[in-house]
Amino acid sequence: MRIAIIGTGYVGLVTGTCLADFGLSVTCVDHDEKKINLLNSGGVPIYEPNLEDLIQKNVSADRLTFTTDLEKAVKESKVIFIAVGTPSNDDGSANLKQIETVAQQIAFSLNEYKVIVNKSTVPVGTAHRIKEIINKYQSKSVIPAKAGIHPSVIARSIPSSVIARSEATKQSHPSSVIPTSSSVIPAKAGIHPSSPSPLRGEYTQNFLPLRGGRIKVGVKHPFDIVSNPEFLREGSAVYDFTHPDKIVIGTDSDRALKIMQEIYRPLYLIDTPFVITNSETAELIKYACNSFLATKITFINEIANLCEKVGADVHQIARAMGLDGRISPKFLHPGPGYGGSCFPKDARALCHIAESFGYEFKSLKAVVSANKRQRELMLEKIKGLVGGLKGKTIGILGLAFKQNTDDIRESSSIDIIKMLLKGGAKVKCFDPLAMDNAKKILPDITYCENEYDAALGSDALVIATEWNQFRNLDLLRIKKVLKSPILLDLRNLYDPTTLKALGFVYEGVGRK
Ligand code: NAD
Repeated sequence: MRIAIIGTGYVGLVTGTCLADFGLSVTCVDHDEKKINLLNSGGVPIYEPNLEDLIQKNVSADRLTFTTDLEKAVKESKVIFIAVGTPSNDDGSANLKQIETVAQQIAFSLNEYKVIVNKSTVPVGTAHRIKEIINKYQSKSVIPAKAGIHPSVIARSIPSSVIARSEATKQSHPSSVIPTSSSVIPAKAGIHPSSPSPLRGEYTQNFLPLRGGRIKVGVKHPFDIVSNPEFLREGSAVYDFTHPDKIVIGTDSDRALKIMQEIYRPLYLIDTPFVITNSETAELIKYACNSFLATKITFINEIANLCEKVGADVHQIARAMGLDGRISPKFLHPGPGYGGSCFPKDARALCHIAESFGYEFKSLKAVVSANKRQRELMLEKIKGLVGGLKGKTIGILGLAFKQNTDDIRESSSIDIIKMLLKGGAKVKCFDPLAMDNAKKILPDITYCENEYDAALGSDALVIATEWNQFRNLDLLRIKKVLKSPILLDLRNLYDPTTLKALGFVYEGVGRK
């Protein structure tokens, strides 16, 4: 079976590579030419443990290819996975532009029955929206010249509403709307024949994007939509994809369900539980999971804050809580607040989804706000330890939102650095993998060769990410190079008593 994955980011690249490793033929598509060129020349645009080897293995076996040609990939594939980004809008809602654009592009490329699988995290109702978009645009796509239909026939069959809309579009977006073609677009259809760029329009703007030059009217190929949210964690994405706790499949089509079961057959063999449901439930499952985990992290952070006030030890509390089978020990590690590309945006989006259905999700709104405050409290700790920020130099260990990734999206470390800079401090930092990404948004801080460089001459050292290599620092060397021996351990990697005995002014989160 041939599969196309649209969006070759953290989720798309891992999904495509792992499905290829299951023995399927996979084409990963991205509109970012640089990314695709890099992949085609043997590079990997992101860091994930074991990913590079698995890509090489499957490329060599001719099961995995990379392209920017979405149309060809869709036409050649039976199943199309969508794995594009769904970032936050300013109001916290999920921005669906990338999804909508891809749905349009798929519509123009359908040539026979396909299963369209949404892996992106999307609000309830998006499966229906994708279906609606594909239905709407399928009949307005292109017939290649070799289809041999005379342009006048096509022109006659174009509904006047389409012509009117394309005229309006031509006026408001004269150079960017309708794709170029050397073949014929009938002038009387009102479509600009010399427009340069295909498919740059957006659904909401009623663009009429075309490839190949002729409008196809009334040709509809059957398709089914499946919601198949992804639960992998960055930093262990390949392992998580191949050993998931569950697979969620939301669809109303038995035909599509059978195809999905075929795709995931290797996971059936290792007894992975499958949750088969409707698309609304599947969509909400993903938000419920991420928001619950964000809540759990926030809860232990608040317990940690309380521990500092009452003199209790959050580690012992977390351990005792985790021993309760109803609670489980995971996600009970206090720190500077959750970050990353998923929890923050998904928690905000779920608040927004609830609101749009007339329900105020009070507890989750409180989580979002407490998580923001957690970063501010960490800043207060730093300020308190060094005695104000102006003119101070703070060494930061870790920029990634967690260990084993180069991803800095909504990283608490990055947020804290921004607040430090705003407060007049200078920052020296080190991260094993994320410095290249950080340089793009924080060009004016000092990037160091290693942990000891970051500590050298700093007024305090802050451990912001729980990289394993930060757990075994040469503490005496650190103490020697710091201006003053202040260590703020936002991930509780060290034992307070040991550090104090070594002569550090040491503070963790939630324990003395
Ligand atoms: P990402 O930003 O890393 O990757 C998205 C990719 O899609 C980019 O490479 C982008 O260039 C490409 N793209 C966008 N529009 C395109 C188009 N029209 N044609 C072709 N390519 C296009 O995002 P990600 O982290 O992989 O996340 C993707 C989705 O999966 C999001 O909805 C996210 O919430 C969800 N998710 C992410 C994770 C995670 O850990 N990152 C885990 C589970 C679910």
